[in-house]
Amino acid sequence: DLSRVSRALLSVSDKTGLVEFARALAARGVTLVSTGGTHRALSDAGLPVTEVSDLTGFPEMMDGRVKTLHPGVHGGLLAIRDNPEHQAAMLAHGIAAIDLLVVNLYPFEATLAAGKPPAECIENIDIGGPAMIRAAAKNHEDVAVVVDVADYATVLADLDAHDGAIALATRRRLAQKAFARTASYDAAIATWLAGEIAAPEGQAFRAPTFQALGGTLAQGLRYGENPHMRAAFYRTAGKPRPGVATARQLQGKELSYNNLNDTDAAYEAVSEFDPARSAAVVIVKHANPCGVAEGASLREAYERALRCDPVSAFGGIVALNRILDAEAARKIVEIFTEVIIAPDATEEAVAIVASKKNLRLLTAGGLADPRAPGEAWRTVAGGFLVQDRDNAVVDDMPLKVVTKRAPTEAELADLRFAFRVAKHVKSNAIVYAKDGATVGIGAGQMSRVDSSRIAAWKAAEAAKAAGLPESLARGAVVASDAFFPFADGLLAAAEAGATAVIQPGGSMRDDEVIRAADEAGLAMVLTGHRHFRH
Ligand code: 5GP
Repeated sequence: DLSRVSRALLSVSDKTGLVEFARALAARGVTLVSTGGTHRALSDAGLPVTEVSDLTGFPEMMDGRVKTLHPGVHGGLLAIRDNPEHQAAMLAHGIAAIDLLVVNLYPFEATLAAGKPPAECIENIDIGGPAMIRAAAKNHEDVAVVVDVADYATVLADLDAHDGAIALATRRRLAQKAFARTASYDAAIATWLAGEIAAPEGQAFRAPTFQALGGTLAQGLRYGENPHMRAAFYRTAGKPRPGVATARQLQGKELSYNNLNDTDAAYEAVSEFDPARSAAVVIVKHANPCGVAEGASLREAYERALRCDPVSAFGGIVALNRILDAEAARKIVEIFTEVIIAPDATEEAVAIVASKKNLRLLTAGGLADPRAPGEAWRTVAGGFLVQDRDNAVVDDMPLKVVTKRAPTEAELADLRFAFRVAKHVKSNAIVYAKDGATVGIGAGQMSRVDSSRIAAWKAAEAAKAAGLPESLARGAVVASDAFFPFADGLLAAAEAGATAVIQPGGSMRDDEVIRAADEAGLAMVLTGHRHFRH
């Protein structure tokens, strides 16, 4: 797993740390080869170094546009060391193996940022550098590639640790970084060019940044969140987790931007429910669940989810965790629904949905793993925020009972259910639940106590709609996505009739909140995990 370094090719625009690094390589017996400016810097420092033109038999030409683009260089980078044919080709053509490549690119990004004219930006598009980087990175089984000055020390440490060789693990890591560098370099160029080219009127939206980041256009969309905004759906590279990116649309109107966004929210939420344990249904409006329930069948789960907020469910997105069957389909088509998404659908169910021409039916092929890692991005002015996908699952959290009264088994099951749902509700999120169904959801308020009040009010409204005398919050449990900063939000829940509470804990006033819970006779558990969702 070790690859000895005898020859290094150095070709760098940013010469920071170059001489020290090259000297350290030479001291370890490494032969140095380099391009014009780099060669000058090294020989000026008194280091023994040959010119790359000695490998190619060609002078650098065309203002440096062509320096290293030659089999003498690329053969030396790409040859597989233990392949006899490759060895024979090297011998036949006098190609010398290059074991270490050190390249940093023409400063395209810095030239652009400095506001230089287009011609200068173009001249700073490096061609030979990325070609060499990609060649060396592809051949990382035999070659190490360094694209970042910060890795000079890493390489020297590796050489010393392995008697003049570099470990495969290090070469792999360096190769990954190398491809990331050429990708971001080309992304910068493509994004700049897109900005230089005026988009023709009426042309489908092509988000250059997303394209350049490895996204492929999945679907042009009629418009974005609002009709004056252009939009498109891009798929990222790699195997997608089941959901909107894998979904097959069996029927219905064209999906809109909001449909896709809401369907994603619904499907990610319903994927939290193990289909082997129970049928589950999530109904989403404006990216928030307005009803979530488990049941013995999908139909039962749907009816219970619908009961939570039948008014909001109108025109909603319905996500199911099991194969859509006829019984559930028959019930769902009774009210206006925008989208149904399930892992799959029976033939009979498909036929029933077909009675509603516009209703979009999607099959995702499977459920998403709620514990799977992933990236979540969003744009901010002039950049991106990137974070891990929230893959924390309440079943994995050690729940801590902090009140005098511990929750009953039934309460505990509902507490877990409510916290599972709260993860998918925009903050501040308050979720009332009973017997595996939400009965009141407060979402997206700027104050937690307002979310508490709204959730309790929704539970009272749902009771009225069902013709029940008492609020559905009575005897329910309640989940909060983040800690209660004061006792007031908790007291609002107690007043509404909740008997048990689940929340992360960690407030400065936890003691006060726990005391209030005890005084109200509530059972309370802390998860130690927060589920903000903004
Ligand atoms: P130097 O300062 O050594 O003359 O040039 C180093 C720069 O040239 C590096 O940024 C390297 O990526 C780039 N480079 C190396 N070979 C080629 C080539 O064949 N064409 C172009 N355009 N740039 C190259």
